[in-house]
Amino acid sequence: MALERTLVLIKPDGMQRHLAGLAMDRLENTHMELVGAKIRTVTDELAREHYALLEGKGPFADKKFFERLINFIKGEYHGDPKRRVLALVYQGENAVQVIRKAVGATNPEDASPDTIRGAFGRVCRRHGYYENVVHASGNTEEADREIGIWFNPGEIIP
Ligand code: UDP
Ligand code: MG
Repeated sequence: MALERTLVLIKPDGMQRHLAGLAMDRLENTHMELVGAKIRTVTDELAREHYALLEGKGPFADKKFFERLINFIKGEYHGDPKRRVLALVYQGENAVQVIRKAVGATNPEDASPDTIRGAFGRVCRRHGYYENVVHASGNTEEADREIGIWFNPGEIIP
């Protein structure tokens, strides 16, 4: 067992649909410890830094689909001029895997109904994009990198 930290983002679809509280309720049920929280405006620079490692990979080999990913996290499809995303850091034993389990599979239609994405996510019929309400780091390396992007060291409870 390892003490880990992981990053969660309530994405613009979750913010716009007022699902932040419901998503956090599910996350709290994991018994992981909330050690960081902040609301941020997602600039183009922040969006590209967060998703830098996905550029050109898998479905994002299609440049247009990658731009959809960037525009989505910037809230461009949810009409929020403030581009709000809630960033959270959870800490605990195996936090990355525990939080991913509560979040569910990337595709909301494959995600179990007892997960956040399974219960609240949807697939955009027009573009096939997964509007899955939350982001969660995929592994500890990703988590360290992403927490460093969204938070200053002093903003996380040691
Ligand atoms: N995504 C998508 N279609 C795909 C793969 C990913 O719409 O085939 C979107 C989805 O919103 C996902 C995000 O791109 O959350 C980042 O993709 P990643 O593979 O990192 O999935 P995650 O780690 O978020 O489950
Ligand atoms: Mg990922």
